[in-house]
Amino acid sequence: MPSSQGPDPFAKLGLGTVINAAGKMTYLGGSALSPGVAEAMAAAGRRYVDMTRLQQEAARRIAAMTGAEAAVVTSCAASGLVAAIAACLTGPNLDLVRRLPDTQGWHRVEVVIQKGHAVDFGMPILQLIRMTGARAVEVGSINRTHPEELRGAITDRTAAVLHVISHHAQQDGMAALADVIAIAHERQVPVIVDAAAEMDLRAYVEAGADAVVYSGQKAVGAPTSGFVVGRRDLMEACRLQQMGIARPMKVGKEAIAGLLQALEEYATQPEVASQALWQRAHRLQHLMAEAVATAGMGAVVQIDVVSDPTRPIPRVRLRLAAGGSRGAGARELVRRLEQGEPSIRTRNHHVDSGIVLFDVRTLEEDQLDVVAHRVAEALEEGEEKTGERQWA
Ligand SMILES: *Cc1c(COP(=O)(O)O)cnc(C)c1O
Repeated sequence: MPSSQGPDPFAKLGLGTVINAAGKMTYLGGSALSPGVAEAMAAAGRRYVDMTRLQQEAARRIAAMTGAEAAVVTSCAASGLVAAIAACLTGPNLDLVRRLPDTQGWHRVEVVIQKGHAVDFGMPILQLIRMTGARAVEVGSINRTHPEELRGAITDRTAAVLHVISHHAQQDGMAALADVIAIAHERQVPVIVDAAAEMDLRAYVEAGADAVVYSGQKAVGAPTSGFVVGRRDLMEACRLQQMGIARPMKVGKEAIAGLLQALEEYATQPEVASQALWQRAHRLQHLMAEAVATAGMGAVVQIDVVSDPTRPIPRVRLRLAAGGSRGAGARELVRRLEQGEPSIRTRNHHVDSGIVLFDVRTLEEDQLDVVAHRVAEALEEGEEKTGERQWA
């Protein structure tokens, strides 16, 4: 749960207040930490510790929690992916580890990825593959991959198959993880799963993935951090990358302590299991509908509560009514909310279809009313400014 307690260090820098209705986004600082996580980080920061032993102990606990053979803590999911891909190139061989990203003359350097998984999560995942010295081999089309195409793309040059599970990725038409694992394992090729923002910490290991990569600062509410779980030899090879290309991506004692505390809290009180989250979404829906109706804008929008298609996360969905340019109207609404004070950030993956989403996981109770009224005001302002039905 977010916490607004204590002085705001960002205000001191002259940065305005941000109300986050976008979700746990890296570009908005990931998660607001629980008091327990913040305290664990502060306490860790005041002490010294043997970092190798801290990493080992953290890994042991995370492996137990996720049902994996082994684990490794990283500075974020992106660096976890770098480590996992590099691990598939080098194995636990320090000589090879220290040669990356120069893979000239190496035979097994290809990473196969379905075209619909070639996402940009802030950087292109294809660039992340190249960073290690591997070569990305895209398979299939952006909207469809047949298992046969995948089978054909895997050769004796394939070091790994990278499978992305995310709202960023194409959802339909791609080969399913179970098929990907079966096909890759026919050729003894490991499968890396990018599950950065996923909430289920066991499912992909259970499905047979060789390495699964998570963000700490997304679903589990940790500080910026990441972890990779999976096969013991690959996790050992991930760890070795700290003496090579992953060294500039090291994770500190504060983040490890915060991650462990957050994982513990996540295991005992998974946020989404809570009815409270759905209740909060319905409360925001109600407040927003009321404010919009009072402003006389009730006819231009529809407001309901929907679940994320891949995860049980409730979100308030505001849809501009049919007609005109819904995408332009929604973009204008998003811009007005962002430029206001406080700045309200929304979830804009479907803005071009005239849809603005509000994630309530990152909102505090007293912010619901502010968001509802700012939405009504922004709709009203738009109408007054142009003197016409801009939104419909
Ligand atoms: C957020 C995200 C990443 C990167 O995670 P960081 O922890 O910010 O490095 C990678 N892949 C996907 C699918 C993501 O959503």
